[in-house]
Amino acid sequence: MDLSIDFLKFLATEIYTEVNPLLGTKKASIKYERGAGGDITMHIDLVAEKTMLKTLNDYSIDILLISEEMGEKYIGNKKKAIESQKVLIVDPVDGSNNAVRGIPYCSISIAHAEGKTIEDIEKAVVLDLSTKDIYWAEKGKGAFLNEKKIHVSNLGLSDNCFIELNFPKEKAFTYVEKLKPIIERFYRIRILGSSALTLCQVAKGSMEAFINLRDSNRLVDVAAGLLILKEANGQFFSLDGVETDQELSIDLKFPFVACNAKLEPFLRNELTTNY
Ligand SMILES: [Mg+2]
Repeated sequence: MDLSIDFLKFLATEIYTEVNPLLGTKKASIKYERGAGGDITMHIDLVAEKTMLKTLNDYSIDILLISEEMGEKYIGNKKKAIESQKVLIVDPVDGSNNAVRGIPYCSISIAHAEGKTIEDIEKAVVLDLSTKDIYWAEKGKGAFLNEKKIHVSNLGLSDNCFIELNFPKEKAFTYVEKLKPIIERFYRIRILGSSALTLCQVAKGSMEAFINLRDSNRLVDVAAGLLILKEANGQFFSLDGVETDQELSIDLKFPFVACNAKLEPFLRNELTTNY
């Protein structure tokens, strides 16, 4: 079966149906061992991943799955999956800690690639687990929130810009000091807890930039949001200012910067000279 954008939306909606009633419940937070992505797996993560696997099996999908809890695994017919080079990169719940505490900022992130690198991502869906809103994009066809086309904002440094700044707690003060010249130019700072969803906020022009300095930031968190951002005319680059086109893998982790086109020269320059 072809992995159309409609199928990816359907897959996300199936996960939503099982996971949404668990938001903010004690049951959601029952802890298991560490997942392949490095975080402790909770009940809510397992329910989401199980639902995804069942749906993929029910529809006889042959694919390499890269998923936060289980890591890399061939689903269906391995030979066909290898031949087609089809890959699904999924974070079944991005923002699990928000989800179990009842903070309405968590999402499902699903990206589909045909090939081996980030550039080969063709389709993406991010579903907001609280509102059921679906952000989605197909390469070359633009980005959407439900039925509405979205694009990054046109705000620049002289406007009231919003930024999400995420950093490892242990180095918070060092980073805040280092990033002073950037922080000073923004109107409001946020740390929201779902990278997939924040990439969509930048894509739809609700925020202007997102700097994620965590080395532990995984491909599964950003794969879908990245295509949505790019299709919305946003910019995405690493801290040394280069585009990221690395090989798809559960082990791929990297800090990044996402922003609208207007802020790109400023952020690139500040980060490459001061970081
Ligand atoms: Mg997760």
